Amino acid sequence: MAEKCFDEQAKDEFRQAQDLGKFPMEIGPQFEGQRIRRPEMYVEFGGPQAEHKFELFLAAPMDEVEDGKVEVVGPDIPEMKPEGTYSIGIITKVAGAKVEKDLEGVLERRHHYYMNYIEGVMHLNQRSDIWIRVSKAVHKKGLNSLKWIGLALLRLFKSSLPIIERMQITYYTDPVKVAELEQMALKVYDARDARARGLMDEDVETFYACVLCQSFAPAHVCIITPNRLGGCGSISWFDARASYNVDPKGPNFPVGKGALLDAVLGIYEGVNKVVKERSLGVVSQVALYTLFKTPHTSCGCFEAIAWYIPEVDGIGIVHRDFKGPAVMGLPFSTLAGHVSGGTQNEGFLGIAVEFLRSPKFLQADGGWERVVWLPSALKERVKTAISGKVADRIATEKDVKNVEELRQFLEKTGHPVVQRWKAMEITPAEEAEAKPEAEAGQIPMVTGELQVPVTSGGVGFKIILQNVRITADKAIIKRLEKE
Ligand code: SF4
Ligand code: ZN
Repeated sequence: MAEKCFDEQAKDEFRQAQDLGKFPMEIGPQFEGQRIRRPEMYVEFGGPQAEHKFELFLAAPMDEVEDGKVEVVGPDIPEMKPEGTYSIGIITKVAGAKVEKDLEGVLERRHHYYMNYIEGVMHLNQRSDIWIRVSKAVHKKGLNSLKWIGLALLRLFKSSLPIIERMQITYYTDPVKVAELEQMALKVYDARDARARGLMDEDVETFYACVLCQSFAPAHVCIITPNRLGGCGSISWFDARASYNVDPKGPNFPVGKGALLDAVLGIYEGVNKVVKERSLGVVSQVALYTLFKTPHTSCGCFEAIAWYIPEVDGIGIVHRDFKGPAVMGLPFSTLAGHVSGGTQNEGFLGIAVEFLRSPKFLQADGGWERVVWLPSALKERVKTAISGKVADRIATEKDVKNVEELRQFLEKTGHPVVQRWKAMEITPAEEAEAKPEAEAGQIPMVTGELQVPVTSGGVGFKIILQNVRITADKAIIKRLEKE
């Protein structure tokens, strides 16, 4: 395929290719989970370097959707610099007798899934966080227009979801236009999220699960409840229910709650059973409302991360869009590396921004009364969810620059965690009493797996010791001093 693909006169070439299956690239589930590193990328859209980006699915009346239309408004790939980063806005309109508004969020999430079926195309995240890369290899094969991607998506969506009778896709690449439309998209996302806010987990008998991200994080199962939507922030309980109704064999399915084992932590027998089954035994218990004891797994497309800051016994939150380092000195991307992959990480949790508005938000850990730091933009975004009593006592990047300044800020403002510090102060006599049964310096024979959470400056990693015996007269762990 040569440059003439972008010539208006060659418009039909795309249609014919679609009909005949003559795409320049391959399409199929074998490409799921592909990563395109910077040196392999021909061009990228969105991501942290692009100021404006979004994807939006809209259910529209039949007469407002021109079936099969794929349009690029603004420059297309040939007009772009190799290895460049560009803004992008993608608006997909769908219509059909059974296509309801409820399905918009679900179809939007499927967009992530199907994009990754296209050879040489990587799609990460969702909504206004999307990040798309096209590889040099596939560009060389002929994928030289966004239209090819659009045509592949039309085929994938329509063949797997016959309820979609009409579908059209428009790619906006002019940054001014993308910025303008992004504002509209943000309003649509917000209206979707607001819908689920009135319902409580206690009000329903059934939760839903989502396994869409297993292509990237094989043991990850999102448990979606009225008070806790999926980590990506794109699938609410209503969305998951609508998705199951139209596609019962798809990635969303019902989860009977079963017996409530712990109301504060949010542990349900039915949830544990499903998670164990679908994670192939890797995860056997999930507590929905905490980041400590068997927390929910985190795949990688979460909108924000909540993490424990041991120095102040509080919780920090940082969202994907925050460019600077968080209070412990690390940016979101580094922290995300510790959290993602579908594992349970005590003290770390990938979450949707909407979860910050939930009445069950980390309720077992103290909820907002335990939060000590978050970026000012995020604080502004969720301010109505933070009780007035604590709001001014939670620091942002404008108040403090490091954990020591944070400690002083919390003390000065009388943040509720300060009371916890007092309660935690223990006398030497208590300390002696609190010694573990095993003698100091000796860890008893470990069978199975021992996980030691290690934290430093509020971020950490795990050392996993399997089938080991450790004996020592003395163990000293010291901070490395800088030269
Ligand atoms: Fe589904 Fe969770 Fe992935 Fe969102 S983050 S697509 S809810 S598995
Ligand atoms: Zn994910």
